[in-house]
Amino acid sequence: MVLFIVLGSCLVGVAVTLNVGWIILNWRRLVPLVVGIPFFALLIAGVALNTIFLVREVRRNERHDAFLNAVTHELKTPIASIQLYLETLERRELPQDKRLEFYKIMREDSDRLLATVEQVLKAGEVGQSSRKQVRIPVDMRQLAEQCVEMTRSRSHLAGADQKAPGIVFESIEPETPAIVRGSPEELQTVVLNLLNNAVKYSPNEMNIRVTLRVQGDAWVMLSVSDSGIGIPPAHLKRIFKRFYRVPTRSVLKTKGTGLGLFLVRTIARQHGGDAFAASPGEGKGATFSVQLPRLLTPRDQEAS
Ligand code: ADP
Repeated sequence: MVLFIVLGSCLVGVAVTLNVGWIILNWRRLVPLVVGIPFFALLIAGVALNTIFLVREVRRNERHDAFLNAVTHELKTPIASIQLYLETLERRELPQDKRLEFYKIMREDSDRLLATVEQVLKAGEVGQSSRKQVRIPVDMRQLAEQCVEMTRSRSHLAGADQKAPGIVFESIEPETPAIVRGSPEELQTVVLNLLNNAVKYSPNEMNIRVTLRVQGDAWVMLSVSDSGIGIPPAHLKRIFKRFYRVPTRSVLKTKGTGLGLFLVRTIARQHGGDAFAASPGEGKGATFSVQLPRLLTPRDQEAS
């Protein structure tokens, strides 16, 4: 990629020098000057554009390669593990408690496998403009609470009232309805992806706060904050791109496909909202927010 950037910059440099030389040599002759300058300008713009596209394409290819490696690894590891446990169960007479432990591990592995496959399928699905969706009123408060519970039990985390904070759910103005129109399944994907990331990228102490607030009549805002590995500022915008993973050691040693946040933003935008990321820097935690248009209920209309 460095080669392409250097080559592109050199070509632009040569074209600019030629252009300036041309102007100096021909400044007395009006016709070649008037015809030549736009042609040179076009040439320079073409070379610059070509370099930009080339660099983008190289980057995209790099991301595709990284994605293929990650997915292959994500598929292979649980299959290999299940195979090993099955072989052991086949060959040896094991006590009941050991067998139950093996079944549990195999179940967790197959859940992981299914989650990866579903994420890849969903990433393909959300991009299709022809897909049909049933959109109904969804209570985001209830949905967020359910997702928090699911993540707690999946990650074996304690609730707010216990010693380890784990995941805390806070609903601001709990009396105001927080209803949006959308697909419950997709909105659940959004919240679960944000929660899974918060858990995954908090390698030491897990301190996750989920906040739901209603912003006037317009928006329902859901934020997930953690005190994990954080995100360097230069990567904040790119993390929502398909297959993008921050290339730091702490991220690369964590399993992932780079599809979760792409799904979060695509689904939020298809629901008329958006998704944002903020982080004070590496090692300082991160906050992800999803903003969705609020659906006013008869209760709201009575109140106003
Ligand atoms: P994956 O987690 O499978 O890599 P995502 O699309 O969910 O893919 O996230 C993209 C990238 O954004 C991650 O690879 C990671 O670098 C960064 N990221 C996402 N969530 C967090 C978080 N809570 N804390 C720090 N970095 C995060």
